[in-house]
Amino acid sequence: MTTTMQAAQVSKPNGDWEVVERDIPEPGPGHVRVKVEVCGICHSDVFVKEGLWPGLQYPRVPGHEVAGRIDAVGDNVSAWRQGQRVGVGWHGGHCFVCDQCRRGDFTMCVQRKVTGIDFDGGYAEYMIAPVATLAAIPEALPAEEAGPFMCAGVTVYNALRHAGARAGEMVAVHGIGGLGHLGVQYARQMGFETVAINRGNDKEPLAQQLGAHHYIDASAQDAVTELQKLGGAHVILATAPNAQAISALVDGLSPSGTLLVPAAPTEPLTINVLSLISGRRSVAGWYSGTARDAQDTLEFSALTGVHPMIEKYPLHRVADAYEHMYSGRARFRVVLTVDG
Ligand SMILES: [Zn+2]
Ligand SMILES: [Zn+2]
Repeated sequence: MTTTMQAAQVSKPNGDWEVVERDIPEPGPGHVRVKVEVCGICHSDVFVKEGLWPGLQYPRVPGHEVAGRIDAVGDNVSAWRQGQRVGVGWHGGHCFVCDQCRRGDFTMCVQRKVTGIDFDGGYAEYMIAPVATLAAIPEALPAEEAGPFMCAGVTVYNALRHAGARAGEMVAVHGIGGLGHLGVQYARQMGFETVAINRGNDKEPLAQQLGAHHYIDASAQDAVTELQKLGGAHVILATAPNAQAISALVDGLSPSGTLLVPAAPTEPLTINVLSLISGRRSVAGWYSGTARDAQDTLEFSALTGVHPMIEKYPLHRVADAYEHMYSGRARFRVVLTVDG
């Protein structure tokens, strides 16, 4: 039996991708070893590549959209067994001790960990995962689809299901990309009147295929006017990385509507506060979810037929794969195939 594995690491901020041979790690107490099948490349992996995460230790193997199979189980693990299919996502564990944990709000743990940042992630043939990070993958879901659900999927799904919209109310998804193409599908499957907003009309057929009831071409139409013609959106999920465009959308909300921002644009938002006050509207962020939230995402996706659109690269082409993700030209999530 081989005792080494291939792993893709970054050994310093802005360092090149290095595909290296490493010893296959052993799981300690409360941990399992996952034989990785696929790992999605997320835009947040720039934190590792470019050294943007304070205190990050190098070399680091990134990757928090992992799907694979438990290959070895450490001590004190009772609920997981060898051979089980699991996903590992952004939520890398919590302390169980701080006030947020004592209230059961584990994603807000003051000592929360992030997979592929605080410990090595899934750009490798094997990884060690704390049990708090594990989501069981439903039988029907292929690994290459489960991977992207572990970060992009859970972020959007969890944000939408906590945003306060009820069945039949209007949810608009701004930006049809890595997050947005999932947002449209989840909004539709959750029973919302679903609006897709994007610049140009080239994505209109796709948006309709994903389940949008309405499409607004923000380059030819005024998105706010069009949203108000439809009655105003209860929730606008803003996924396009354009602060100016996101800020303007506040006026497209219905009274008590929420502009929901699950991923950070580079520039700050400039919000018309009078519009917030007069319409009792809010602007809110959303932060990922626990492993159980991720498992809910996998189960809901399998149940309702939500699929990520992916482009696959083998692990040894990690540099090309990352570049493709970074270019913004991927349709829509890039996935490293590690096994097979
Ligand atoms: Zn991510
Ligand atoms: Zn805690």
